[in-house]
Amino acid sequence: MAVVDSDEQTKNFLKSLGFPYLKIHHAINHYDFTKGDRKILIIGPMGSGKTEFSARIYRDSLIALKKSEKLRGLTMAGEADRRNIFYIRSKIDKKRFEDYPEDALAYRSGYERLGNCVASIEDSFELEKILDEECKVGTWILDEAEFFDERIAYVIDNFSSKKNGINFIFPMLIINFRKDIFNRTARLLMEIATDVFPLTAYCEHPECIADSYYTYRYYTIGGVECPALYFDPLIIVGGDKTLDDSKTPNYSTRCDHHHFLPGKEYTFLTLRPLGELAYSGNVDPLLNELMYIKNDIKKSEIYKKFAQKFLNTDSPNPIMMNALKVKCIAEKALIYLFSEENLLSIQQMRELAEKIDADLDYINDRLLESRRIKL
Ligand SMILES: [Zn+2]
Repeated sequence: MAVVDSDEQTKNFLKSLGFPYLKIHHAINHYDFTKGDRKILIIGPMGSGKTEFSARIYRDSLIALKKSEKLRGLTMAGEADRRNIFYIRSKIDKKRFEDYPEDALAYRSGYERLGNCVASIEDSFELEKILDEECKVGTWILDEAEFFDERIAYVIDNFSSKKNGINFIFPMLIINFRKDIFNRTARLLMEIATDVFPLTAYCEHPECIADSYYTYRYYTIGGVECPALYFDPLIIVGGDKTLDDSKTPNYSTRCDHHHFLPGKEYTFLTLRPLGELAYSGNVDPLLNELMYIKNDIKKSEIYKKFAQKFLNTDSPNPIMMNALKVKCIAEKALIYLFSEENLLSIQQMRELAEKIDADLDYINDRLLESRRIKL
């Protein structure tokens, strides 16, 4: 019998069939419900088919469940059966699926309906509850797990050491639009993982077909592509449709060459030090910069830095300047310093927001998505 779950085995199997020497890619297997104790990361950028991968595992489970009773022993883990799948998504991600039935597992080219085997939860505490309630479930798919609190990694790790043989599957973004590890939750899940399936997608740039890993965030304003700034809020839930909106970003997959990320240097060279000054009690320099950004952007440091780097140079890169066309740049700077760098107190946040006449709805929506208290 040929086992084909590793590259080497696939190679030997095909060789035994008389294949000549050629480049052999690893087999695309059906999901193996006989193997337990796995924590599987399915990682890849937007559009790489992570959700479709989950849907395929679900379809495999429907086939596996039809098999004879004799097989049960192979897929059981205590009272749970790994062929019983439960799909969990984050409540904040729910608006991505507004157009689909409540129980739909939606991907780009269709959807599966999961009936009672799907739930939207808020945090790791709710996950704990469902894990205890659904004792027949042997395979848990936790979609976009990076949206949850860090605690979730330990809830899962403890649950799987208590209940032998249970599997967890995490279709998730491991790298954010800044090309950093998504967040601490992603880092902790990487630490407990046993398997990883990396998926790629074509670079979405019209002049490119390279295999790509990076998630690119941009805004479309009047049909013009405006790359997101480095200090754009870490989590902004986007839709699957492309929007022409200055406040809601679009996402796509891009190769290194077409992934534009303006403002990283400004963030560390200027913005963060202004936050540090505010932290030590001197808020005015930050306030000045925010006022300029809000009311007269050409006088701001960010504009001067961008003009120097992307316009007045031997190799100009004007698309980067489009990043300054989006709304709420001062608000984004405040959110970054407050919620990611912890350099502003809630009191300072409120005062600065008031002084620059900030868009409070925008700030509060972002703080909610990054699990912070509202202003
Ligand atoms: Zn490209």
